[in-house]
Amino acid sequence: MYLKRRLREDLFIFKSLRFPYVKKTSFKGFRYNATIGIGGNIGDVKRRFEHLFVALQKERSLDIKATSLILQNPPFGYTKQDDFFNSIMVVSTNMTPQRFLQYLLHLEKKFARKRSFANAPRTLDLDIIFFDNRTISTQNLKVPHPCWAERESVVIPLASMHR
Ligand code: ADP
Ligand code: MG
Repeated sequence: MYLKRRLREDLFIFKSLRFPYVKKTSFKGFRYNATIGIGGNIGDVKRRFEHLFVALQKERSLDIKATSLILQNPPFGYTKQDDFFNSIMVVSTNMTPQRFLQYLLHLEKKFARKRSFANAPRTLDLDIIFFDNRTISTQNLKVPHPCWAERESVVIPLASMHR
């Protein structure tokens, strides 16, 4: 069940039981807080987000602290594809940034992500937006995620969590 609201001509927000979500008791067992951007535009993406949430809740190596609402927004770059659905999840974990990236790539695979070309349609994209307050600039991992501040797909869900 979703509550749907038009935000602008080309933007819609969706709310459900798990999006947005805030964990009531804050469990302090894990060291780091990671902010993940989740997105997709193939098939029933909102349903996939719900499955992801349930899968992560069973995960012993991390703890979901909060999620944002879901934003439906038009594609950029390659524009002849369906709208995207995007949300944000904040989790705490003891995984290092590199380990956490590998874990997210594994999850993408599990949710049947196929890599084709840049900005191509995708079932599930998982990006590390922030990792505590660290700056990381290695070959395969850039944190904060480049251009996060210019993307409505990140900024709107993120802003909705801080009010
Ligand atoms: P994009 O998300 O930019 O559309 P991809 O998901 O296909 O493109 O990019 C995948 C690669 O991006 C990963 O293999 C990873 O090494 C690299 N990458 C660099 N920084 C990050 C980050 N902060 N979060 C996730 N992946 C990242
Ligand atoms: Mg990605």
